[in-house]
Amino acid sequence: MMRSPAQELAQLQEQNLLRSLAQIEGGEVPWVTVGERRLLNFSSNDYLGLSQHPALKSAAIEATREHGTGATASRLVCGTFRYHRELEQRIAVLKETDDARLFANGYSTALGTITALVSKGDTVILDKLCHASLIDAARLSGATIRVFPHNQTERLAAILRNTREKSGSTTRILVVTESVFSMDGDTCPLAEIVALKNQYEALLLLDEAHALGVLGPRGLGLAEELGLQKQVDFQMGTLGKAAGSAGGYLAASQDWIDLLTNKARSFIYSTAPPPAQVAASQAGLDLICSSHGQKLREDLRNRIALLTSEAGLAGKLPATPIIPHILGDNELALSVSHRLRGQGLLVPAIRFPTVPRNTARLRITLSAAHSAEEISSLAAALKAFS
Ligand SMILES: *Cc1c(COP(=O)(O)O)cnc(C)c1O
Repeated sequence: MMRSPAQELAQLQEQNLLRSLAQIEGGEVPWVTVGERRLLNFSSNDYLGLSQHPALKSAAIEATREHGTGATASRLVCGTFRYHRELEQRIAVLKETDDARLFANGYSTALGTITALVSKGDTVILDKLCHASLIDAARLSGATIRVFPHNQTERLAAILRNTREKSGSTTRILVVTESVFSMDGDTCPLAEIVALKNQYEALLLLDEAHALGVLGPRGLGLAEELGLQKQVDFQMGTLGKAAGSAGGYLAASQDWIDLLTNKARSFIYSTAPPPAQVAASQAGLDLICSSHGQKLREDLRNRIALLTSEAGLAGKLPATPIIPHILGDNELALSVSHRLRGQGLLVPAIRFPTVPRNTARLRITLSAAHSAEEISSLAAALKAFS
């Protein structure tokens, strides 16, 4: 008999790995309502609180009034509006590249980009902790996959040396990593990675999903913070996190972008993002780069420093708003998360397969929208429960 879904679900339940959806009411960052309860949200990626910003809302409403709700076709057919090109050009200017391409979200950006860049015979080298979208994309590409232990550049160097020796001159070698790792909140050693990919004539794709809006003088990410934007071949990110909207982007030189337009299947075979989404993204990006955005980043850094010192959690440099509190055991992580919720604090327990086995954790994400008092109440509860 074929194995039933009920069997699989029971197995997940046994391992404390069963997941379900909680429906929330939003509208008032950093608060959410779940059922009857109002909870202080420490789980969203809305690092600057922009998802409820009036500028984004009115941009979306205006774009809808002017152009309707749907793009009605893929970008290559009749789905390219002024909004799409303006945002792509704006991203390119900010990222110091020739051009950029927009996708529906970050996941489809990874999928479309990596499968267009490499194929059988090429090699993709990923950090062990890379996001699922990057791993799935590497698998789908058909290229040889190599993985280096998280942030260990000497291991990356060894793989690069070995791959370069065995490869022909037309073979592509693509190094893939993230600026801020989504479950650990630490950053990659970008300067060293750039030096290595140059030395071994490889390409570098940097996913700035959790760094856009957060790092860099104008909030453009880790590459901007370190003055390395021009050294990164493919700058990727999402507009669904700090930018407060939805969408993904890939910024690169013109030939690469033209290649994506011709080969990235998640771009070609998918309806273009609706005008409202693109207009809101543009407004979010404008705010991120503005002096108001700078002020929000300063608030955010202050909140991070407050929580790490009051709760006795390890602070990292550069400071990022993702603060893992590793408890190890799935059941323990769930129970602490449950008790925090009893205190009105929404802090998710993250388990395998999102993180490695036996590293179940609370994943605290902070926002500039949290007040100092709200941070202090979380710190006190964390100390009491774990
Ligand atoms: C969230 C995330 C993505 C996916 O972006 P979406 O816009 O949510 O699809 C990709 N990469 C990383 C590192 C992420 O954290």
